[in-house]
Amino acid sequence: MPQINADRLLSDLRTLRSIGAQGTGVVRPAFSPKDMEARRWLKQRYEEAGLEASIDGVGNVYGRSRRRGKALLSGSHSDTQPTGGWLDGALGVVYALEVVRALAEDEATKAFPVDAVSFQDEESRFLGCLGSRSLTGALTADMEQGVTDSGGVTLEAALRDAGLAGVPRLRLDPARYCGFVEAHIEQGPTLEDTAHKIGVVSGIVGLRGIRFEFRGQQNHAGTTMMKTRRDASAALYELAHRINQEFPKVAAERTVWTMGRVRVEPNATSIVPGYADMDLQFRDQSEAPLKAFEAVVERLVAEMNARGGVKITATPSRAPIAPTQMDPGLRAHLEAAAERHAPGKWQRMPSGAFHDAGIISASIPSAMLFIPSIGGISHDFAEDSRDGDIVLGCQVLADAAAAILAEANAR
Ligand SMILES: [Zn+2]
Repeated sequence: MPQINADRLLSDLRTLRSIGAQGTGVVRPAFSPKDMEARRWLKQRYEEAGLEASIDGVGNVYGRSRRRGKALLSGSHSDTQPTGGWLDGALGVVYALEVVRALAEDEATKAFPVDAVSFQDEESRFLGCLGSRSLTGALTADMEQGVTDSGGVTLEAALRDAGLAGVPRLRLDPARYCGFVEAHIEQGPTLEDTAHKIGVVSGIVGLRGIRFEFRGQQNHAGTTMMKTRRDASAALYELAHRINQEFPKVAAERTVWTMGRVRVEPNATSIVPGYADMDLQFRDQSEAPLKAFEAVVERLVAEMNARGGVKITATPSRAPIAPTQMDPGLRAHLEAAAERHAPGKWQRMPSGAFHDAGIISASIPSAMLFIPSIGGISHDFAEDSRDGDIVLGCQVLADAAAAILAEANAR
């Protein structure tokens, strides 16, 4: 079995961390100068590892093996949140690089083609999973039209400033691949809580978003009697409360929902609000609870609108993401490798966070591997994992990659 080089792996992870480092964290949002610097650094590493490397028109860094046969694709993303951790995405990117090298150094696996990738803008500065969507053909011109970041910079300007205007965009050739495997930090506490070292992802949760708008009548908070008010905020609070009462009745074990953003207008102490809006988001690994939530929302809104007063509308606030199941064949190889290197210390688990593998799985069989996050912390400068866990996870991935490729190329 191929042996990864732990020092080389950790050294490359730390070098990548240094590009855009701020304290213990990393600031490398998609298309920023630091992000592009990291992508050029990675392209060089791919070339040194013998891959044909390029940065495509949306900023994906792609390393293509020159070897023949069914190829395995591995990688993740190297862009970060505005104030991100050092391992979110970077871990899977450097793992893939190390797997390419480790397999090339082993007599039994050196003939197998492994391609490596770092997707662009997974973290949604402009458009979540921009790079993997573009690669699979799921990015339409419509979706790009007029897209800006939170500061008003257009995607078009960011592409131009990064030197990517007119650069060809790569397209995934599904026939080339036996699969895609993405390694990632867990970004939650499950593995640490259960003292497990490896998580083999069963599926990636689906996600829906609904925006509620409440239209009432703005008025004086002293002279407008309660009976005649059309208070938009009161309707918002009532709906939010009833959602929190009704959802648990139809939720599955790991269904989650969040009302993380509300707005009340004019947001003044002595004014009855005439307008309010609120975003509701919910996630689960299967469709049934998501559909049940939508039905609950429809019923509650209809009930409240039937009373008159404040008019409530509910519209989708984003394109829904369907739950995706990871490929059983690839999962079996990850599980076998996990059992070899961490006997009894791995588990199957769903991913509550979305990942590029959720996009790629629509085109080729895909799977994911998690390693523990210290304290379950992510999307924060404090994000970290133990060196031993980082090294173990990469060895499991290399082992699984060798087994996947041996099987795919034996046929
Ligand atoms: Zn990530």
